[in-house]
Amino acid sequence: MSTRTVAIIGAGMGGLAAGVYGRRAGLETTIFEMHDKPGGLCTAWTRQGYTFDGCIHHLAGCREGTPTHRMWEELGAMPREVLYPADLTQVETPDGKVLTVHTDLDRLEAHLLGLAPGDDRLVRRYARALRAFTRFDLFDAMTGSWSDWARLLRRAPTAMRWGRLTMRTFAERFRDPLLRQAMATIQYDWPGTPVFLHLNILAGSAVRRYGFPVGGSLRFAQAIADRYLSLGGEIRYRTKVEAILVEKGRAIGVRLGDGTEHRADAVISNATAHATLHHLLGEEYLDDKLRASFARPQDEMVMGIHVSLGLARDLASEPHAMVLWLREPAQLAERVRDRLDLELFGFDPSLAPPGKGVLKVLLDTTWSYWAELGRDRERYRAEKERLVETILRLLEPRFPGIMGQVEVSDVATPLTTERYTGVGPGFASSPQWGAMMFARPMTVLGVEGLQIVGQSAGGAGIPGCAVMGRNAVRAVG
Ligand SMILES: Cc1cc2nc3c(=O)[nH]c(=O)nc-3n(C[C@H](O)[C@H](O)[C@H](O)COP(=O)(O)OP(=O)(O)OC[C@H]3O[C@@H](n4cnc5c(N)ncnc54)[C@H](O)[C@@H]3O)c2cc1C
Repeated sequence: MSTRTVAIIGAGMGGLAAGVYGRRAGLETTIFEMHDKPGGLCTAWTRQGYTFDGCIHHLAGCREGTPTHRMWEELGAMPREVLYPADLTQVETPDGKVLTVHTDLDRLEAHLLGLAPGDDRLVRRYARALRAFTRFDLFDAMTGSWSDWARLLRRAPTAMRWGRLTMRTFAERFRDPLLRQAMATIQYDWPGTPVFLHLNILAGSAVRRYGFPVGGSLRFAQAIADRYLSLGGEIRYRTKVEAILVEKGRAIGVRLGDGTEHRADAVISNATAHATLHHLLGEEYLDDKLRASFARPQDEMVMGIHVSLGLARDLASEPHAMVLWLREPAQLAERVRDRLDLELFGFDPSLAPPGKGVLKVLLDTTWSYWAELGRDRERYRAEKERLVETILRLLEPRFPGIMGQVEVSDVATPLTTERYTGVGPGFASSPQWGAMMFARPMTVLGVEGLQIVGQSAGGAGIPGCAVMGRNAVRAVG
């Protein structure tokens, strides 16, 4: 049966990319999005003239001529103005020590050697690895063709050498006390991150493959939605899909919240894999393997709390990110923390009124903590207020006067994210290497014509989810 019409559930990265590639392939496509904006997790929100970005730290595919950049061009998201901050992050300790992770690799090597001359062999090895990683990119292999995979495989030994190390175990190899403490936290303050991912991002930032699109995440997603509409695609916002219709083992359309049905030759779901299997299909098609992979929803919510501050303070001369070690550990939400992970958006003046700035603190948390608090609106609200107050008190020694400079504050919790994107506990429910590496959409045994795309189906970040959307169209088209 040839596909002419496709119903797409959700205008996240996977759904938007499926829409654009579907239209390019001549398919009639309709995207149903329950929110009033495109982008899903790739989003931002505005408060009193400030834009609080909820997503992009580093976007792959910013460099012209790379396979990922070509995909962004096809999707209408590039070319665009991109910013390349001079640092990956800066670690600061209460006793005034500073480690700046410059994206200029020569400068970084000299800085590390200056800080820790006794670690010279390890520093030089790290710098060599970074230079090697400037010559390939994990995303370009996924986005490109077999020849891009071949290029990556030629470099595999370099990547493998670092494959077994995490940022934490890497940091433990340093003798210098500052580097032992700091190196574990320089990639988004995730000590469990495999070192090769860090090398990929820092080296990619050095050669401008990775950057930050001016205006941030929502503007980036909106550009793709605009391209989709210009190709004649349809998006129905504020329209929730309640069920996927299946007849004789084939997806034949969707049922909407108002009970109406929309028939199609194929369905691409960008709702989470969990929601697609458990709610939209009604559990009927869960085999043992799928049931097992969703048996234990993940409680831990990485970067689950965003505390955003609109400040009457110019942040242009600050680093673009910071790990700020505290004088004393402090209780924030359900955990005692000894450091804060900050994003400082002074590098993109479009996100704040002139001379002002946006600062964001990201905290890991658990779903269950907020689910419990959410049962009592007053306690939930009070906890969010307490978070802002405590964070300002902790920031004051480093940013004197900040407590009096807050024009607007905003706290997004895991409950906020679920309300706006449908992404709840089990954010990445069943990571499967094949799906991740080859951006292969998830399929369901017993249901032809259904593809599940996006992060929860194994999509790796914004580009990985977009490639998955492209691959879903190839599969149903
Ligand atoms: C804090 C944070 C920082 C990140 N930083 C980066 C980064 O720097 N670089 C990077 O590459 N990636 C980053 N990511 C990851 C990236 O944002 C995600 O991988 C990607 O955006 C997920 O896209 P998706 O296709 O899974 O769709 P989602 O974002 O999950 O969107 C799904 C869409 O479907 C809609 N929907 C769901 N159910 C229904 C329904 N029943 N009916 C109608 N509509 C429905 C939702 O409203 C939503 O719009 C970050 C993520 C987070 C949370």
